[in-house]
Amino acid sequence: MRDTTDIDSDIVADRGIDLPTITLRMPKPSSSTRVEVTRPDKLLWPTIGITKQAYVDYLSAVAEHVLPWLRDRPLSVIRAPDGVDGERYFQKNTPKYAPSWIKTVTIPAPSAGRDVAYTVCNDADTLAWLGNQAALELHPAPVRRDKLERPDLLVVDIDPPDDAFEAAVEAALLVLETMDDLGLEPLVKTTGGKGIHVVVPTVRRPSAERFRHAAFRLAELVIERKPDLLTAEFRKAKRGARVMLDPSRNGPGATLVAPYSPRARAEGTASFPVLPKDLKTITPTDFTLETVPKLLGRPAVRRWTEAANAPGQRLPASLLRD
Ligand code: ATP
Ligand code: MN
Repeated sequence: MRDTTDIDSDIVADRGIDLPTITLRMPKPSSSTRVEVTRPDKLLWPTIGITKQAYVDYLSAVAEHVLPWLRDRPLSVIRAPDGVDGERYFQKNTPKYAPSWIKTVTIPAPSAGRDVAYTVCNDADTLAWLGNQAALELHPAPVRRDKLERPDLLVVDIDPPDDAFEAAVEAALLVLETMDDLGLEPLVKTTGGKGIHVVVPTVRRPSAERFRHAAFRLAELVIERKPDLLTAEFRKAKRGARVMLDPSRNGPGATLVAPYSPRARAEGTASFPVLPKDLKTITPTDFTLETVPKLLGRPAVRRWTEAANAPGQRLPASLLRD
C-alpha cells in the first residue's frame, strides 16, 4: 500500500495559505516548496481567464485525487507553452533541462531509434513543475514502471459521432451492463472531450497480448448488444452515425487522459468521474478548471480514489481465452 502522508501534508499546508486566486501582482507561493511559478500571469486558457498560476493552483487542489492515477506510470503530456491558442504538442520524453529531482522511467522506443525517458509524477512538486511547464493535459500509461509489460487498466474509449454525447451515454450504459454480467466493477468518467471512458483497474497478471485480446473480446460483446448503435470500425466514413468503441487503447504503448486532467481546449473542460446513475443528467461542460475544485466532495470522486488504492480486479476467463 502506498504512503500518502507526504501528499496530504502538502495539501493541508496549502489550504492554510488562504490567498485570493486572481489579480495578484506578486508571485503567489504554490503548494510546492520546490517549484517557483514563472510568468504566473500568463494566460493559458484566455477565454476563461485561467493563468499559469491559477493552473498550478488547480493542480494543487486536485493533487490528492489525481496522483493515485499517475503514480509510477510513464506519463505523456500535451504541452502548450503559449496557452490553448498557441502551438501544442504531445510530449513523451522528459526535457533535458528538467530538475534532477524529477523522476523518469526509460523505455526503449525501437521505432524512434532511441529511448524515451518518461516523467513519473508521484508527488505534488512534480505536478506543480508540470503545471509550470504548461503541460495542460496529463496522459498516463495503463502500466506501472515495475511491470511495464503487464497492463493494469482496462479502458473502453467511447467516441460518439459528432458531438452526440447522449449516444456516448447510451453506449456507456451498454458497456456497464456487459461488465456487470461479467462480474466487473467499472469506473466511469467524462474525457473532457466528446466522449466517455469506462475503466477497470485490473490485477497485473495477463500478458499485454492477452490483455489486448480481452479488450477486443469485451468490445465485441458490447457491440453484439446493439450493432446499429455501436461499432469498432476505424474508418470514420464507415462508422456513419454509430458510436466507436475503440479497444486499441489497451496495452503498454497506449495512454489515457487522467481523471481531473484539463483538456487543451478553449472551454477548459476536464476529465471527471461520474457515477453510472448520473450519466443521463450530466454534460461534459459541467466539469471545467473552474468547477472541478468545487466538486471534489462528490461520491464519484470518492469511488475513483478508493478504487485507485484498492487491489485490481481479475478479468474473467471468458474474456482472456480465445
Ligand atoms: P474524446 O472523448 O474527445 O475522444 P479522448 O481523451 O478519449 O477524448 P481520443 O482521441 O479518443 O481522446 O484518444 C484517446 C486517448 O489517446 C487519449 O486519452 C490520449 O491519452 C491518447 N492520445 C491522444 N492524442 C494522442 C497523441 N497525439 N499521441 C498519442 N496518444 C494520444
Ligand atoms: Mn475517446
